[in-house]
Amino acid sequence: MTETSSPADADGPRDFIRDIIRDDLASGRARGVVTRFPPEPNGYLHIGHAKSICLNFGVANEFGGRCNLRFDDTNPAKEEQEFIDAIMADVRWLGFDWGGNLFHASDYFEQLYQWAEHLIENGLAYVDELTADEIREHRGTLTEPGKASPWRDRPSGESLDQFRRMRAGEFADGAKVLRAKIDMAHGNMNMRDPVLYRIVRKPHPRTGDAWCIYPTYDYAHGQSDALEHVTHSLCTLEFEDHRPLYDWLIEHLPVPSRPRQYEFARLNLGYTVLSKRRLTQLVAEGHVAGWDDPRMPTLTGLRRRGIPPETIRDFVARLGVTKQDSVVEFSLFEHCVREYLNKAAERRMAVLRPLKVVIENWPEGEVDELDAIDNPEFPESGSHKVPFSREIYIEQDDFMEDPPKKFFRLGPGREVRLRYAYFITCTEVVKDADGTVVELRATYDPATRGGDAPDGRKVKGTLHWVSAAHAVKAEVRLYDHLFREEAPGAGGRDYLEDLNPTSLEVIEDAWLEPSLAGWPAGRTLQFERLGYFCADRDGTADMPVFNRTMTLRDTWAKVQQSG
Ligand code: ATP
Ligand code: MG
Repeated sequence: MTETSSPADADGPRDFIRDIIRDDLASGRARGVVTRFPPEPNGYLHIGHAKSICLNFGVANEFGGRCNLRFDDTNPAKEEQEFIDAIMADVRWLGFDWGGNLFHASDYFEQLYQWAEHLIENGLAYVDELTADEIREHRGTLTEPGKASPWRDRPSGESLDQFRRMRAGEFADGAKVLRAKIDMAHGNMNMRDPVLYRIVRKPHPRTGDAWCIYPTYDYAHGQSDALEHVTHSLCTLEFEDHRPLYDWLIEHLPVPSRPRQYEFARLNLGYTVLSKRRLTQLVAEGHVAGWDDPRMPTLTGLRRRGIPPETIRDFVARLGVTKQDSVVEFSLFEHCVREYLNKAAERRMAVLRPLKVVIENWPEGEVDELDAIDNPEFPESGSHKVPFSREIYIEQDDFMEDPPKKFFRLGPGREVRLRYAYFITCTEVVKDADGTVVELRATYDPATRGGDAPDGRKVKGTLHWVSAAHAVKAEVRLYDHLFREEAPGAGGRDYLEDLNPTSLEVIEDAWLEPSLAGWPAGRTLQFERLGYFCADRDGTADMPVFNRTMTLRDTWAKVQQSG
């Protein structure tokens, strides 16, 4: 073997795409690796796109090549600047950099137009005047060949004139199209004279109203690849049937390079939808608060939910790249997030459903400052102070008046540990007129400061708590799956019927330990015993808002161990 080895040969990921690239480099078919990530700016990126981004940028990095970010902006009817900006921000957030290699299919409109004339002049394309419906009817079926349009054999000079007049804006939207002249009986429907250009009078975010004809995806994509000297054009399996057309166009045009297309299975994920059409509908109809609603599988939604980008990259890497379509369990994604956050997230205490406890033998007005470890996974990472005083809040769930045997938390006459603080014993239960428990009275043992009894006495429960006088009030938003079915819309149902009506629960009077005041957004932490949380941009100095990123329990890991 010659000098084609690269870091990618060592410990990097292996899959059929990387094997192809390795072979291409070894055989000399490719001298370097150029890939591209080609989003259409008609929506926000979702976690499925992350798979494509990690693959395209990943192989470029591993093989010392480059990856272009190219906007496939050929359909001005649906594309917007907002989406272009968001896509760039999301790719960067995910950890990838296209350097100076930012392109737009619209950069190539003039070249693409010239090549279309080249096809017409060579008898390989014609202007058709059938309506869209008629074109569909003429196309035939999988078992029947299509029928030729009456315009199919018009002289190329006539098509050329018509095409120039299309460009000049002489015809109404949809009145005519340019079609490749390939084979109306071809076994692959995409080869039955596919449409290359259509008339659309819509201002384009970049070219304004310079154009009223726009190339189709199939026509623009491969030629853009060729113009950028893309070597490996990686796309999802639904484009497999388009590959013959991709190759046909490359073969019949004087393009400067010969890219090849390879297809891999798209990411499908349980309990959510990964289709821009559906995600657009969820936003437009108000089923969610916007593209960045933390329940959305969009990258911007996941970021707002507190999901670190590292965990998305790790998740995608574990899935690998294959040609097998499948639905990935959502619990695998959660597992990746928990595994990362368990190591990375600092711990703090917060009480979501407060129950006041008055410690009767604690002197009024006195405050103790206790040391709490920032992250028990890395004790050397430091600690912070938590104030303790006469009145504290614990979680309502952590008390039962008549507890069953297995309940190790607080009950009348029982002793528990308050994390980092003292042992307390419940001495009295205070109720309101309805019999609801509204307050507990307790005593503490001064000898247990820090959480251990010098006489070796054990307690079974350790509770989180906050000092009532010092705690910061907050709103906490608890998120669950957006859909209650793993496969929304399966069996012909409207997928909207499967929306989970309890996917968001808002708690308005949660209490946080004071070190959480001003906690930066984007630094996900653990509320001890409750889950992972992050500060939301809706918060104010007076009323912070926290999103639950994820609960603590890991069903996926358990299934793997027992299964
Ligand atoms: P959708 O059809 O779901 O709306 P899309 O394919 O139209 O998505 P594009 O902006 O065209 O969205 O996608 C950009 C790139 O991301 C394409 O190469 C596409 O194949 C890839 N991609 C889109 N969805 C997924 C997915 N779920 N898994 C992997 N790659 C994907
Ligand atoms: Mg697409």
